[in-house]
Amino acid sequence: MARCAAVWPALFDIRLPSTLVQSVLDALPTPVFFKDRAGRYRGCNRAFTELMGKRPDELLGMSVFDLSPPELARVYQEADEALMLAGGEQRYEAEVQRPNGERLHVLFYKAAVRDEHGVVCGLVGTILDITERKALEHRLADLADRDALTGLLNRRAILAHLEGLHADRRQARQPLCLLMVDVDHFKSINDRFGHAIGDEALVRVAGCLRSNLRDGDRVGRIGGEEFLVVLGSTDLDDARGVAERLRQAVSQIMVETLGGMLQLTVSVGLASSLPDEDWAHVLGRADEGLYAAKRTGRDRVVVAQNEGRHLLSKDWRRS
Ligand code: GH3
Ligand code: MG
Ligand code: MG
Repeated sequence: MARCAAVWPALFDIRLPSTLVQSVLDALPTPVFFKDRAGRYRGCNRAFTELMGKRPDELLGMSVFDLSPPELARVYQEADEALMLAGGEQRYEAEVQRPNGERLHVLFYKAAVRDEHGVVCGLVGTILDITERKALEHRLADLADRDALTGLLNRRAILAHLEGLHADRRQARQPLCLLMVDVDHFKSINDRFGHAIGDEALVRVAGCLRSNLRDGDRVGRIGGEEFLVVLGSTDLDDARGVAERLRQAVSQIMVETLGGMLQLTVSVGLASSLPDEDWAHVLGRADEGLYAAKRTGRDRVVVAQNEGRHLLSKDWRRS
């Protein structure tokens, strides 16, 4: 690989052979570059030329717009201008595009460079690739929202989604529809077939709910064998149709056990929010609908009444 133009010693008034400074820079795994006051590349190390897929002699004199897609180049140029006006140092997150189109998440560390009169004559920059760290952060954030057994949203995440959507709907003066879904006689499933089969049944129910919902609907595991569905659509008749479809889909599940096939049913409480109703209140009414479904025979959908009797029986805000 050819060496980059050795402008560094002159810029920093370093009394070292220029080839030595360039060699040190080329030995670094981190891309390093220097731009003049007009934003033209005037020096770089090997890691930078490799990242950009250009030869050093090609890079020299180029602007960010010659190297990167316009939407990224604009970000770099604005940051460069701000730094060269203010002087000092700068650190920001951005993306860098490789020649093959792959985008990296990076941290730029830049510092203004001054000439012997103290006037800003350019900047030096380094690029730290944080793509893997970002991917890990996203995976961890996603994991923190997931229920370990079923992979559905956990209680905290589905309630946070409910709270957010409810606030949006309330502002738009539109209702929000909720389904509380509870597996029937689940305790006796555990008792008869064991906890492992109980777990498998929960995983199957979760998968069934997820695959029978549409984009925009969300489902989470709110408790042991209880699931909350927050519907994207606002129409009560439509919600009733979804609830019935879910109930029927669950009744088709067959779990194989040593004692034969196990069939499952669920009871569903459906509530549609009233104007100015608090989200926890709507949830309380969906829960009322669920218990009405249990009382009246299970394996059914009950639409909650507008007034619940035990609205304060559970504090949903407490997770
Ligand atoms: P109902 O039809 O009235 O809902 O009755 P039920 O038996 O389903 O309800 P109950 O609340 O009496 O029992 C729920 C059971 O769910 C009790 C609990 O041990 C079990 N359970 C809770 N979480 C899990 C879990 O993660 N795995 C398994 N296998 N069982 C669980
Ligand atoms: Mg149950
Ligand atoms: Mg229950």
